[in-house]
Amino acid sequence: MIPYGRQVISEDDIRAVETVLRSDHLTQGPVLSRFEDAVALHVSAAHAVAVNSATSALHIACLALDVGPGDLLWTSPNTFVASANCGRYCGAEVDFVDIDPETFNLCADALEEKLAFAALTGRLPKVIVAVHMCGQSPDMARISAIARAYEVRIIEDASHSIGANYLGARVGGCLHSDITVFSFHPVKIITTAEGGMALTNDASLAARMERLRSHGITRDSALMTHAPDGPWYYQQLDLGWNYRMTELQAALGLSQLDQLDAFLARRRVLADAYDVGLKGLPLYLPGRQAGAHSSWHLYVIRLNDATRHRAVFEALRADGIGVNLHYIPVHLQPYYRALGFAPGDFPVAEDYYSRAISIPLHAELTDVEQAHILAAIGRVLT
Ligand SMILES: *Cc1c(COP(=O)(O)O)cnc(C)c1O
Repeated sequence: MIPYGRQVISEDDIRAVETVLRSDHLTQGPVLSRFEDAVALHVSAAHAVAVNSATSALHIACLALDVGPGDLLWTSPNTFVASANCGRYCGAEVDFVDIDPETFNLCADALEEKLAFAALTGRLPKVIVAVHMCGQSPDMARISAIARAYEVRIIEDASHSIGANYLGARVGGCLHSDITVFSFHPVKIITTAEGGMALTNDASLAARMERLRSHGITRDSALMTHAPDGPWYYQQLDLGWNYRMTELQAALGLSQLDQLDAFLARRRVLADAYDVGLKGLPLYLPGRQAGAHSSWHLYVIRLNDATRHRAVFEALRADGIGVNLHYIPVHLQPYYRALGFAPGDFPVAEDYYSRAISIPLHAELTDVEQAHILAAIGRVLT
């Protein structure tokens, strides 16, 4: 089976991890700081906080923005459940904003309308989680302008999009948000096995997230309620978690970062070849957001004929092609249904789900494999 996504691990990656295993520090040590600095520099963010997953990063990002009981978090229904769950972890309510049918990202027009209505009813969200579906930035300039008019904070869930570009700047620089989150899960653009990072230009948000990833503890005497009892002393200021990233993960991440440009270049070539090879078939190709250059985490086709969705999906799997589906609308998950959501609530995301298929795209996909995939899709659809 040709997987829809998978990691690429080099001999350099293996050596980097091995070096850490022979060193004095196995978790949150000097290599972690280097990894954070390298990613922050790469995306032009002032601060980076590495954690054990993007899910954890989303959680501490919400906490740093004071999301709590009585608050509302809005996100796209077309995302991995973690983009919504982070609000629930904090005791907040979650709601969704339907997607743009071309880019599959949170729709700025729908957001504008929903915010205007929420302002009238006094139910404005505290934070919006804007997801970079497939690696392509949403219309962040507009989304942030709309949100800021209502003093709503923004987290970019850029789990798919390290290396992507938006309006001439690298995603992660937080030019249109308070905090941006990356994932380093093996199917994402670069990997640390499990891992994530929160980027911000706000020093106080960064300091809070650093504490929250490690039990809410500080060793900085300036932050303590009284002078340290002695050299051993630390204080717990907030209720935090153990979301630390290990040195092994950080070493892998740092080594993967060196290969980021090569991974992106290969993904772009493959995506362009899909655009050409799939033209003329009865399906819709991925739409482009003006000013955005995708990292091409996913290549999603949508069938013109939704009634053939399952049959086409199963035929491609039977042909050895590890197609997948990103995403089942979050509001239709049983957990969210139990909170009151129902089919029909977000019709664009639901229509997307009825016809979307993610076809294989990763940096080690070969031309021969891609030709096989294109031939199979052509056979199934004609
Ligand atoms: C993968 C993913 C996450 C979660 O990432 P982890 O690092 O596995 O916790 C969150 N949001 C989106 C959009 C993702 O694709």
